[in-house]
Amino acid sequence: MSELQKQMLSELQDESLFKKAESFGLEYLSKVLDRNVYPTEEALENLSAFEEKLPDDTGNAHEVIEMLHKYGSPATVAQVGGRYFGFVNGSVVPAGLAAKNLSIFWDQNTAMQVLSPISSKLETVVQKWLTQLFGLPDRTVAGFVSGTSMANFCGLAAARYRVLQNNNWDFNENGLFGAPKIRVVTGKDAHSTVLKAIALNGLGKGNIEWVDTEEEGRIIPDKIPELDSNTILILQAGNVNSGSFDDFSSICEKARSQGAWIHIDGAFGLWAGATKKLKHLTKGFEHANSWAVDGHKTLNTPYDSGIIMCDDQEALMSSLHMSGGYIIQGKDRDGMFYTPEMSRRARIIELWATFKYLGKNGVDQMVYNLNQRAIQFANEISKAEGFSVLNEVVFNQVIVQCETEELTNKVIEEVQKLRECWVGGSIWKGKRVIRISVCSWVTNKEDITRSVNSFIKAREIAYKQIQLTE
Ligand SMILES: *Cc1c(COP(=O)(O)O)cnc(C)c1O
Repeated sequence: MSELQKQMLSELQDESLFKKAESFGLEYLSKVLDRNVYPTEEALENLSAFEEKLPDDTGNAHEVIEMLHKYGSPATVAQVGGRYFGFVNGSVVPAGLAAKNLSIFWDQNTAMQVLSPISSKLETVVQKWLTQLFGLPDRTVAGFVSGTSMANFCGLAAARYRVLQNNNWDFNENGLFGAPKIRVVTGKDAHSTVLKAIALNGLGKGNIEWVDTEEEGRIIPDKIPELDSNTILILQAGNVNSGSFDDFSSICEKARSQGAWIHIDGAFGLWAGATKKLKHLTKGFEHANSWAVDGHKTLNTPYDSGIIMCDDQEALMSSLHMSGGYIIQGKDRDGMFYTPEMSRRARIIELWATFKYLGKNGVDQMVYNLNQRAIQFANEISKAEGFSVLNEVVFNQVIVQCETEELTNKVIEEVQKLRECWVGGSIWKGKRVIRISVCSWVTNKEDITRSVNSFIKAREIAYKQIQLTE
């Protein structure tokens, strides 16, 4: 045995190394709810500690972990807590986080059942739970991917396969050269990752037939062109700015009867369909063919976790197909047939644990709370001087604007500097806005009030600065 092997073998059996990592993690968790949401300037500057050349020689495992904690932990964004409203980022359900911790020691590869029977079993179980939770057709299958970007890609790959197969064109063999034309129809407010998925699938952004949207970003159903069996129609559950939902009940059945493939980008919004009080938002979505959704947003699983669900198993599997002489097909589920990757980490473990823990009612309650806190935010901020809410808060997103664009920009900057909470800017209907996404289960009434107060303070600072410079 080499010296290195000996050293690593002793480290593998060195509980104190793993306990050290765990205790740093626990120390982090114990402070994260009250910490500055964004790293301090000092923490950001200290990141330069990592700018070193790759060491020549093997070091000490304890020192690696110590360095990571010393400079890494303070430079994280406290999105696990209750006052991070940037992008659309969830916190973590503790049972899911703990399950991930356990699974880290297993280090499973979920490509095939033979590689990880436990992962194969959990994928099968969660696929069924998802289908039941959302009320999708029994035949629905699911692939567990890194996020909705990838899930959108997979949904459109399945659609592309099916449309061409209906034209007796084998995409896998012939590609798109000389293939029958595929039409792509989507709303002007489609998420940028939908456009990326269109491009990656070779369908061409330039070929999109754009449908007009109304003030909340919803597709205007009457503006959808006549569809046919060569069309992929892409809808949205949860606009990334306003949180609005396309009107599935008036669009889906009709589009389906015209033979179109319907894909829904429901990264965070699809979860409305798993609640009693917000389910009306997704009414009719079960008539689609593929659905993309994230675990790591509204469901609050650890990163990363995305899901592609598809009612056409053959299309999904064929479009992501691979084979090789060494592949041992399992008796049950081989996860890699449902995803672009072969080797994959077992993100299903956290997803399963999150569902197993929360149950249907827990999911319902957690999602509904995000909606209630977003409404609270909108109510409180619209009472404060100088802020107006631009959207109808149907889900978890709030769009806020100040009197002028300059002030809006400055308020974003000052809120970020105060570090009580974190929000980002966006462009909404051509205007610069502040976008608030309530996506963490931790967020309570106090967090909202505290954050609104930080907005008020930020506006005062911004207002003074602008007056000074005038
Ligand atoms: C976040 C988001 C995506 C992309 O999802 P990732 O998990 O970040 O890849 C796609 N669509 C919408 C509407 C989103 O909010």
